[in-house]
Amino acid sequence: MKTTRILPLAIAILTSLTLHAGKNHSHEKKEPGPNGGRILTSIEPHAEFLVTADRKVQITFVDDAFKPIAPAAQVVTVTTGERSAPVKMTFAKTETAFLSEQTVPEGNNFPVVVQIKPSPDAKAMVEKFTLNLSNCPDCKYAEYACICSHTH
Ligand SMILES: [Zn+2]
Repeated sequence: MKTTRILPLAIAILTSLTLHAGKNHSHEKKEPGPNGGRILTSIEPHAEFLVTADRKVQITFVDDAFKPIAPAAQVVTVTTGERSAPVKMTFAKTETAFLSEQTVPEGNNFPVVVQIKPSPDAKAMVEKFTLNLSNCPDCKYAEYACICSHTH
């Protein structure tokens, strides 16, 4: 009989802890994108940058809760690869995202420049970072999408 009394209490405590954590949400804490990619915060609406298993780049726009939102009239361009031989990637719109028509070259730690125009005539928003595809030892994401606060 004791268990039936304790269980609802345990659930109540867990629920309040979850709510409490939600209230303490801070933008300093990094959160993963909906597909485990990197959130580009210089882009509005924010977008998730993800390298797929076949080394294509997928850009998914997200809302403030990092939930995916449908692609619209955006124009996405990504430049990456060796500085001496950069690859300019163009993107095709899918049901849920933008997918690159080229693949990321073999190698690692390439500089990446993401340019997104809200519409074809608008000014591009730009975000730059290093594409480190190694797995982070401390969280389950690749280094470029790492959400833990370790320093390199
Ligand atoms: Zn990490």
